[in-house]
Amino acid sequence: MDLALSASEAQLQSKARRFCEEVLEPLEAVVTEHGHLPREHRTPLRQSVIKWGFTGINHCAADGGCGFNILEQMLINEQLGRVSCGLWAAVWQPPAPLRYGTAEQKARYLATSCRGERRGCFAITEPQAGSDPRLVQTRAVLRDGVWRISGEKWFVTSYDACDYIIVHAHVDGDPDKPTLFLVDHGSPGISHVRSPRFMHDYIFDHAELVFDAVAVPPERMLGNIGQGFELTKDWFVEARLQIAAHCIGAATRAAEIAEAYAKERVQFGKPIREFQAIDFMLADMAVDILAAKSTLYRVAWEIDAGVDRKAVHARASAVKLLCSEMAGRVLDRAVQVLGGRGYMRENAVERLYRDVRVDRIWEGTSEIQRAIIGGQIGKRGMGLYAGWPGASV
Ligand SMILES: Cc1cc2nc3c(=O)[nH]c(=O)nc-3n(C[C@H](O)[C@H](O)[C@H](O)COP(=O)(O)OP(=O)(O)OC[C@H]3O[C@@H](n4cnc5c(N)ncnc54)[C@H](O)[C@@H]3O)c2cc1C
Repeated sequence: MDLALSASEAQLQSKARRFCEEVLEPLEAVVTEHGHLPREHRTPLRQSVIKWGFTGINHCAADGGCGFNILEQMLINEQLGRVSCGLWAAVWQPPAPLRYGTAEQKARYLATSCRGERRGCFAITEPQAGSDPRLVQTRAVLRDGVWRISGEKWFVTSYDACDYIIVHAHVDGDPDKPTLFLVDHGSPGISHVRSPRFMHDYIFDHAELVFDAVAVPPERMLGNIGQGFELTKDWFVEARLQIAAHCIGAATRAAEIAEAYAKERVQFGKPIREFQAIDFMLADMAVDILAAKSTLYRVAWEIDAGVDRKAVHARASAVKLLCSEMAGRVLDRAVQVLGGRGYMRENAVERLYRDVRVDRIWEGTSEIQRAIIGGQIGKRGMGLYAGWPGASV
């Protein structure tokens, strides 16, 4: 078993680190000051991402992406996660369901997104439909050969930076017909209600939208009627792994800052690092990161090795749960090690502490991940999680 990264993987990792330090980290103070990234910074940032070659990192070369495998994507996402204020979102990762689009849809939405010319956002959640998307009220009705979409969507991330929205709606209001539609930003009938402030400062917004009989031509349906969950499932796998990698990056940066601070900070005549209480917190942080990172890399490696789709889905939930809960613990300890300084916004530890809280909520809460994992154990046995690839028992 060789667990070492290859030379090219290590090179990609350090390129991503340099990109984060040179391009993204200088913007942390700007987002913290404004609560979002002001527009004048957005075009130069987009150009930097293109210049560094981080466009469409989650898609294959045939679709216009970078052609990275999952482990390579995780190596990049881990570095991105070190940066606070959701600046990782500057590296756009076009929604996975687009790869199931028609040739025309792929050319119009996916290829342009991979080139960094367009950006999409995803609208599933509604006031009454969160963890249970069968409660979605947004309906699509075919009238005179044109779909009409009506409903209300909440928490639409990156709406203020998007060119199109992938809308999850129920055809004829039937929850057995969940379906995805590609809706261009600015289509008549879309109203932006508000973009509330959240716990984190985030590069873009999280909007509340109303769709009032928005006309969508038939060729903008993504996949078939009723395929909404099927297509979104792949998106969830990808997004859950991305979140896990971000969490590892955030936790690692925080642990490094905490360790460096503990060595320097002197109280009661010695560096606080020499108090066992602090030493133990650093030890717990290190062990948490080791376990989470090992699991993420293993699952990424398994996906690249071709493990079956159901196992991928099941394990992506476990990795997301493990890494997001790990990041919460590590960030909490990092704030504690830094004392009052850990509570200051100008400190990355404070910002990351707020940032990682949502990782236990979006893309399926921790409770939903546990429900998925429990269900999978019931169906496929404990070995799905407790076993090892190639093992005989
Ligand atoms: C910052 C942010 C950005 C987001 N971006 C997007 C986006 O771009 N697009 C989008 O569509 N959505 C987005 N979301 C929505 C997000 O996916 C939902 O918030 C999440 O799925 C949970 O739904 P909910 O908030 O309605 O909570 P609820 O589903 O109401 O859950 C409330 C509580 O009940 C628990 N619960 C619910 N069902 C069960 C169960 N069966 N068993 C045990 N416990 C349960 C939950 O775990 C949670 O603790 C975003 C959310 C946030 C906060």
